[in-house]
Amino acid sequence: LSERLGGVFDRLTKQGALSEDDVRTAMREVRVALLEADVSLPVARQFIKAVEKKATGAAVTKSVTPGQQVVKIVHDELVHVLTGDEDPGKLKIDSPPAPILMVGLQGSGKTTTTAKLAKRLKEREGKKVLMASLDTNRPAAMEQLAILGTQIGVDTLPIVRGEDPVAIARRAKTQASLGGYDVYMLDTAGRLHIDEELIAQAAAVRDVANPRETLLVVDGLTGQDAVNVAEEFDDKIGVSGVVLTRMDGDGRGGAALSMRAITGKPIRFVGLGEKMDAIETFEPERIAGRILGMGDIVSLVEKAQEVLEAEQAERMMKRFQKGQFNMNDLKGQLEQMLKMGGMQGMMSMMPGMAKMQKQLDDAGMDDKVIKRQIALIQSMTKKERANPALLQASRKKRIAAGAGQDVSDLNKLLKMQRQMSDAMKKLGKMGKKGMMKGGLG
Ligand code: GDP
Ligand code: MG
Repeated sequence: LSERLGGVFDRLTKQGALSEDDVRTAMREVRVALLEADVSLPVARQFIKAVEKKATGAAVTKSVTPGQQVVKIVHDELVHVLTGDEDPGKLKIDSPPAPILMVGLQGSGKTTTTAKLAKRLKEREGKKVLMASLDTNRPAAMEQLAILGTQIGVDTLPIVRGEDPVAIARRAKTQASLGGYDVYMLDTAGRLHIDEELIAQAAAVRDVANPRETLLVVDGLTGQDAVNVAEEFDDKIGVSGVVLTRMDGDGRGGAALSMRAITGKPIRFVGLGEKMDAIETFEPERIAGRILGMGDIVSLVEKAQEVLEAEQAERMMKRFQKGQFNMNDLKGQLEQMLKMGGMQGMMSMMPGMAKMQKQLDDAGMDDKVIKRQIALIQSMTKKERANPALLQASRKKRIAAGAGQDVSDLNKLLKMQRQMSDAMKKLGKMGKKGMMKGGLG
């Protein structure tokens, strides 16, 4: 798959901005990639629409191909859609004993995940955990949890034959309170398919336990099915998060994207094997890379962007050393400020600039002001930008009008440019050595 994507992308080698054609060609392949990764068709369509909008006209970073740039944009959008919870690994387990309800189809990995999470809570957060199996369908299921409990050193509720799931849930609750447990986990029975009995049972247990977290365990290899299951469970039981298991397998993780896009439920953990440590907090970047199968390209583009920014910084430094600071430079600085959210651009790396920085801060340089100043500069001709000394009254009027502002606004901007230019000249006289001490050297 990466090869096919790579092939198409190799053909798009024109530098500059991404054309509509570039994007459309690339999107055809991305669509195939998504479907192969088991992303559902409507989700793939919707996703591609969003990416197309963002990608068309986007600048192509020097030294990467347009195709690679598209991949980066697609990747970023994937991460955006996949991101659900700021801290997916943090389970709500305040007010002990906190109940956690585990639901899902049979064989999805509920029992294994219950034990994995119990181990995590015990080891990472020092919690005292009680696990209870509510799986009365298969006698061996209760023993399975008990064995895992012994293995990881976590208590399980003693097994009483003939009890129904609701009664077990009640007993677990009582036992958890009496035994001073922080958390009790209810591992429910599953079926091969969702049916009314299964849902009714889970709902009854939910009503007794009133869980702080209801985690739906789904097999990450089942793709589209997983999404239907998630919708149904969320609808009938209410789900606070999803655990995707078998992500150690060959599946590409498209279920994760569909799940997020359709149910909106946060993915909290991924299961990565049968061992008790094989569970991780969900990381959108990893799954995004996996769906695309092109992690290396993404990092290549990121690297190229870094290099480009460093090159720009260096070019600017050279000009500053010669005491040059025109409107283009000022625009660059203002844009940098916007990007970094304040006066922390290249300025702050240069000695002697701290004072200037303070002046700007005092002048109330917030984003709105900065954007207005950039608009003024954009209203100037190329010549005017390179040589602001050209700006006499009539030109000033035209520029201010062009940006929908007053000449007094423009005068303020000019004053700022002059001050900066003067400061640059002084710095220039200090010589290269003095300049570079600030941290760029
Ligand atoms: P349950 O019926 O939902 O309780 O599912 P189980 O927890 O009993 O798991 C069914 C099978 O899947 C067991 O053999 C587990 O070892 C296996 N399993 C569970 N989670 C994972 C996982 O993340 N990766 C792999 N490879 N196997 C898993
Ligand atoms: Mg089980």
